[in-house]
Amino acid sequence: MSYGYGLFTGGLGVHYGAERVGATVLPTSVGNTERQIELMQDLHTTAIACTPSYLLHMGEVAEKMGVSIKNDTDLRIGILGAEPWSEQMRGRLEEWLGIRAYDIYGTSELSGPMFTECSEQQGIHIWGDIALVEVVDPETGEALPPGERGEMVVTMLQKEAFPLVRYRIGDITVLDEEPCACGRTHPRIRRIQGRVDDMLIVRGINVFPSQVEHVLLEIPEVGRHFQIVIDRKGALDTMLVRVEVSEEAFSDKITELMVIKKAVEHRLKTTLNVAVGVELVEPGTLPRFEGKSKKVVDRRSL
Ligand SMILES: [Zn+2]
Repeated sequence: MSYGYGLFTGGLGVHYGAERVGATVLPTSVGNTERQIELMQDLHTTAIACTPSYLLHMGEVAEKMGVSIKNDTDLRIGILGAEPWSEQMRGRLEEWLGIRAYDIYGTSELSGPMFTECSEQQGIHIWGDIALVEVVDPETGEALPPGERGEMVVTMLQKEAFPLVRYRIGDITVLDEEPCACGRTHPRIRRIQGRVDDMLIVRGINVFPSQVEHVLLEIPEVGRHFQIVIDRKGALDTMLVRVEVSEEAFSDKITELMVIKKAVEHRLKTTLNVAVGVELVEPGTLPRFEGKSKKVVDRRSL
């Protein structure tokens, strides 16, 4: 259990749930990453619950210690959540670390981490007997049909003492009521695509950091770490994406780096519909986060 303990419900929520299904739980929490990797090897850990960015960090720390999580540990499952992440990130973590990575969802107000993907990995099942989920237009509050992106609203059906009726969580998702191949009939939500309050408005266009991640992970020459810097020059918003070049693509040849920079700018512009500047930085230079990652620096004084 490498989510934080304390008042954040991720830690104790997953801890008690895992014990309930008969698992032995190591309450390692976040931090002291070298020791976590030693424990993982000594005690033959098979599953880890943490944020995707922390697992990424663990993989890098392990490599620095000369440990391949894929080859030198028994880890085979990642239960990842508490921050938005993308399908590309899942693919990379699964291949690199030799695991299957499942998306998990919950908030402290709802009762902690409680909704997860099944083995199909096609969206998070919302257990219909304990929660009723709607997706609404964040501006008007109008309910949207399944398949449309909007803000998640939850009514808890069994919660006692702290009732929640049509509670606006602020997470952006899409409701999926199609039957799941696993046979369960509980509705699903697609990956959380961001927070209503994370949504950046750049030159009047809605941009989610998860869209940037999605694009970057499709480009093999860039690494997994990036930062978005929003600023305002005169009346115009500017958006700069600082991204680490992958170890393999990193070279001193300015011309090659320029080609990569142009390609990344083009892909981002096509996807986001807004001009984006790209700054390529050396591998390992952007800040790493052990809890939820902070990918956006907004320098606009509005
Ligand atoms: Zn399913």
